[in-house]
Amino acid sequence: MSDLKKLQEAYDALKGSGLKLNIERGQPGDDNFDLSNGLLTIVDEHDVRTPSGFDIRNYPGGVKGLPEMRTIAAEILGIAPAETIVGNNASLKLLSGVLTWALLKGLPDSNAPWVKSPSPKMIVAVPGYDRHFTMLHALGFQMEVVNMTGRGPDIETVAKLAAADPEIKGIVFVPTYSNPTGETVADEVVDRLVSMKTAAPDFTVFADDAYAVHHLTNSPRRPKNLLTAARAAGNPHRVILFGSTSKITFAGAGLGFLGASESMIDYLAKLFGTQFIGPNKAEHYRHAKFLGNYPGGVAGLMQAHAALLKPKFDAADAILSRELGGQGLAEWTTPEGGYFISLTTARPIAARVVELAKNAGLSVTPAGATYPFGKDPGNSNIRIAPTRPPLPELEKAMEALTLCIKLASAELEAAGK
Ligand code: PLP
Repeated sequence: MSDLKKLQEAYDALKGSGLKLNIERGQPGDDNFDLSNGLLTIVDEHDVRTPSGFDIRNYPGGVKGLPEMRTIAAEILGIAPAETIVGNNASLKLLSGVLTWALLKGLPDSNAPWVKSPSPKMIVAVPGYDRHFTMLHALGFQMEVVNMTGRGPDIETVAKLAAADPEIKGIVFVPTYSNPTGETVADEVVDRLVSMKTAAPDFTVFADDAYAVHHLTNSPRRPKNLLTAARAAGNPHRVILFGSTSKITFAGAGLGFLGASESMIDYLAKLFGTQFIGPNKAEHYRHAKFLGNYPGGVAGLMQAHAALLKPKFDAADAILSRELGGQGLAEWTTPEGGYFISLTTARPIAARVVELAKNAGLSVTPAGATYPFGKDPGNSNIRIAPTRPPLPELEKAMEALTLCIKLASAELEAAGK
């Protein structure tokens, strides 16, 4: 029997086995969430006044967030508390908020609001995070695409683009354990990003540090701090950092925060303050209390997360190696942190693999999602999110996925492509 026929038979058997598995979105497992259940009861009716002196039931507190929570956000981002704003439940909301205000009013170094530009552009790095692309498109930015290199965005191309075009207002990328490639930006890339000459005086590095403390090994990556480096380079407004507790405590029910120079913080807080009186202090307080009381603080909690997540990454890698190793069918990353494995097929089959998987009951991130407009020019990148399913389900999902990759490869080979 030919390989294709054997693979087809194995696939038909898989399809008949009634799978219902999901490795689509980067979500924590229930056991990860359980680590933070203490949040739900750590503040009660006897505890409504914060050490900093605010009543969590009333308005006063300010737009920048509760001091106790700003201290924790600062620790996560590696900056000073005065350089932070802690918002509500999503870092994406803060990113879109800053971009919207930049469009409407400009940033401190702007000559004019960005909407005055005939076509404001933003550099994005691929493979990247689909929600960044969707947001930028929705806000009216044109996207200039550069590749991730294993050491962060392709800095030569970034520097050339930024130097040449005043309509390029910045870059959006993930500096630590990037989504989906898992790479961490190298020191020399940080240095170039903060010091390079840009045609736009207000060129801004929007660094979405969603995985800043999400280490999987005992030798954590801590890239050179972009904000500190920007200040040292004499471009204090060049960088805005973003982060959240979405994958520290509860996803979408935690706190987003941003980091920037103190003058940028004042500028943004003034604009945000026209929209609301202040963020949810009850959430700030219970997060500050819970994370402050956790043994070892945020780092201790992240180690407990890693103990649950590392076996999943190891299992996924072992199955990829066993099923696909040495056959030239695909390459994949072995991340040291973050939430994803990025797999690149040798042949242009990503869409077919995802389709085969779907028809067999396995949801995988749609092919192309890691590129703007869902268009992967090589039709080869597949983002694997191994964190959510329990280990036995993940193993089944990885076996199913690798079978789909083998079958799609064999189909193309049989077609002489
Ligand atoms: N940024 C990146 C790079 C992500 O991967 C994610 C979630 O997958 C988010 C932001 C979402 O963060 P939040 O829940 O704080 O909006």
